[in-house]
Amino acid sequence: MISVEEAQAQVLARITRLAPQRIDALDALGCVLATDVVSDIDVAPFDNSAMDGYAVQAADTVGATDEAPVILRVVDHIAAGIMPARDVARGEASRIMTGAPVPVGADSIVMVEHTAGLENGGSTGGTVAIGRPATAGDHIRRRGEDVRIGDVVLRAGEVVGPAAAGLLAAVGAAFVEVYRRPVIAVVSTGDELVGVTDIPGPGQIRNSNSYSLAAQVLDAGGIPMMLGIARDTEAATRAVLERAPEFDLMVSTGGVSMGDFDVVKDVLEQIGEMDFWKVAMRPGAPQTYGTIGGTPFFGLPGNPTSTMVGFELFVRPAIRKMRGFTELARPRTHALLVEDIRKKSDRRYFMRGRIERAATASPGAPAYEVGLSGAQSSAMLTAMHHANCLISLPEGESSFAAGSVVECIRLDMEEGTP
Ligand code: AMP
Ligand code: MG
Repeated sequence: MISVEEAQAQVLARITRLAPQRIDALDALGCVLATDVVSDIDVAPFDNSAMDGYAVQAADTVGATDEAPVILRVVDHIAAGIMPARDVARGEASRIMTGAPVPVGADSIVMVEHTAGLENGGSTGGTVAIGRPATAGDHIRRRGEDVRIGDVVLRAGEVVGPAAAGLLAAVGAAFVEVYRRPVIAVVSTGDELVGVTDIPGPGQIRNSNSYSLAAQVLDAGGIPMMLGIARDTEAATRAVLERAPEFDLMVSTGGVSMGDFDVVKDVLEQIGEMDFWKVAMRPGAPQTYGTIGGTPFFGLPGNPTSTMVGFELFVRPAIRKMRGFTELARPRTHALLVEDIRKKSDRRYFMRGRIERAATASPGAPAYEVGLSGAQSSAMLTAMHHANCLISLPEGESSFAAGSVVECIRLDMEEGTP
């Protein structure tokens, strides 16, 4: 048996970032950029008004108050999207809307709230009363104040979020180079398995692992391909596992322990190479890893929670590495245990837990507390569903009393979150 850290290191040693791909910017959400993105224009592209109001010369408005306003002639009405028809000279103003180009001659905008339309309602040909003095530059958004032409607006290695999508659009980058999402084959093994829409007969259970695994693949940013159920014979299992090279990665569940019909390991050794098959951990010691025709292969154990914990510890970091992420580990938080826990000392335990902010924290003590999220049998999924963390209990120790400080792997937080 190897340690969890050794197993994780062996996995990542074989995994490489996938090739960059040019895709529609909208499909890039959540992906890592492979190249810098440079702006083809200034943003804002021209000086424009930040307010609905009047474009004026500040010198005309000196001393203006509501009681003693300055009266200006209105010479133009400028909507967003059109160019001014007239310049603004001394004694003149142009009615202007937010986002409209500032006319030549004007150096400031007076908000409409500080004006009163007189003749002609303050429209072109009429007059407007200005009730506040303006300072040059007031409410004008300058050309290039956000981004200058030639600026790098997004850097290789950055993740595309909603704001990045907006920036890409603003600088005309309809397509971007990102590390593509790996296509991941999901295989379940077992003679006892029936489909999700089937009523299980005697001795049968529904194939829930394909669903939880496919969901974990999606959650990690991969594209799951459901290859169905392989029956527990070498021939049937080989027929499915041989397809691994069609994909970027293959994950199977079941058939990796000591049972008479556990054939996944044997098939892996026949058609591929096995790096390890047992990790000093619970749940799910028989975590199998190798390659088939060069494609990474994970033979996860069959018990539903063992499958999910194995995915979380070994497969998810691999998918993230393929996607170009450098942050591969979930955040960890220290917390005070709220109940006694016993374990075997020869392996690492990953217990399903709920971590919460402590109601009262003494100085120097962790600000969080954690308890088990339900029954810890690896055959049960309920506690995994209620968990927001895995309580990582190190090998070499066998009991943890309430009040001990333990380390929690935050399933509720993305890698790279502080
Ligand atoms: P195995 O490692 O194949 O012996 O499976 C261990 C346990 O997990 C057995 O109780 C199986 O019935 C169960 N199991 C295996 N595969 C699945 C699956 N795809 N969905 C739900 N349970 C499974
Ligand atoms: Mg089985």
